[in-house]
Amino acid sequence: MASTYLPRQIELGSNSLEHLGKIAVENGATKLFVVMDAFLASEGLNYDVKIKSIVQKQNLAVTIFSDYRGEPTTDHLLAALDSLLKSNADCVVAIGGGSAIDIAKAASVFAVNPTLAWEDIAAQNRLKRLPLLAVPTTAGTGSEATKVMVVKNMKTEIKMNPGHKDLVPDVAILDPLLTKSLPSQFTAYTGLDALAHAMEAYVSTLASATTDNYALNAIRMIGRSLPKVYENGANVEAREKMLLASCYAGIAFSNASTNLAHAAGRPLGARFNIPHGLSVALLLPFVVEFGLEAAAEKYAAIAVNLGEEDTGERDQLAKQAHKLIKSYNDKFAIWEDALRYIDLEEFKDSIPLLVEDSFSGNGIVTNPKVPEACDVEHI
Ligand code: NAD
Repeated sequence: MASTYLPRQIELGSNSLEHLGKIAVENGATKLFVVMDAFLASEGLNYDVKIKSIVQKQNLAVTIFSDYRGEPTTDHLLAALDSLLKSNADCVVAIGGGSAIDIAKAASVFAVNPTLAWEDIAAQNRLKRLPLLAVPTTAGTGSEATKVMVVKNMKTEIKMNPGHKDLVPDVAILDPLLTKSLPSQFTAYTGLDALAHAMEAYVSTLASATTDNYALNAIRMIGRSLPKVYENGANVEAREKMLLASCYAGIAFSNASTNLAHAAGRPLGARFNIPHGLSVALLLPFVVEFGLEAAAEKYAAIAVNLGEEDTGERDQLAKQAHKLIKSYNDKFAIWEDALRYIDLEEFKDSIPLLVEDSFSGNGIVTNPKVPEACDVEHI
């Protein structure tokens, strides 16, 4: 049996953010706790002011938590939780990339489960949490539709990524106008993260007919729209396709698992502070090459969905998928950008640790070809 979990409601379209207050009321909210990073708040885009004006039309009280930047850590979570408990809010809203959504997910859970341990989350039959509405401003992680949250443990420097069906947000609001301001490099990193989600879900040993459907649709939309939004961030039609693709890719991987590119990418992000999408994009071509023969049929379908002509030559098309993925990294300057974050000497010294960390989370055993430590070291 293949079970599939996804949000109860998905709103798609320009200006859908304007309906946030009404949707929150429909979900029983009277006081909102809104998570957004410092840049999305008053430091840059002024979303704190915008959100207040939208939800006050419904007479909703609102507390904004924006006192953090970067990807989530246990320190961010403690600060968010403290603020949430003081606010007495009865509904949590995330507006931002995967970072804001994951802090909101974790806060919505720990607010009502104060003694729950991270390692026990996955084993709960039911996970109580506050109602959760997610508004992504990047088209990448799909966290608005996933049962996963990723938070770096500041003691171990490991990115923890527990999964539970009740972590899927109640509502995802996909408003492409919010992604227009994302700079081209972050558009590329997050877009390639979404592509990696869809590809890894599709070749995963846990893939099902349902997740294949979401994954292939996502791959098709990303193949057509990512080059367009990279060239012209104001192309709202292509931004909307990317947002929907990212959400579909999230549904696909959340139910079928990611695999090696994510398992090995997380430690790169945790130890070198590389943006998540960049670390995954950097590894994806090597991971595809590693598993190419084991999943040739599936990689051939990926090539066709990315826009290659369907010649029926399975092995040729599979190789073409690998070439295409490599070409995205050339086109979007992924190699050069990664070197801005990585000191090569330090990186070489860290390889044994990075390999060890890769085996600490989910996703290695669902790779179409299961790697040994020496394979991860090579990748
Ligand atoms: P992010 O949320 O960290 O944002 C990246 C940067 O872009 C930040 O500086 C942010 O301020 C800025 N930004 C966001 N939206 C913007 C906009 N519209 N305009 C201008 N700037 C904007 O990036 P992300 O890649 O979306 O999220 C990464 C995090 O998500 C990582 O911690 C990763 O591990 C996690 N993740 C979670 C899941 C999941 O299912 N829970 C899946 C994949 C990744």
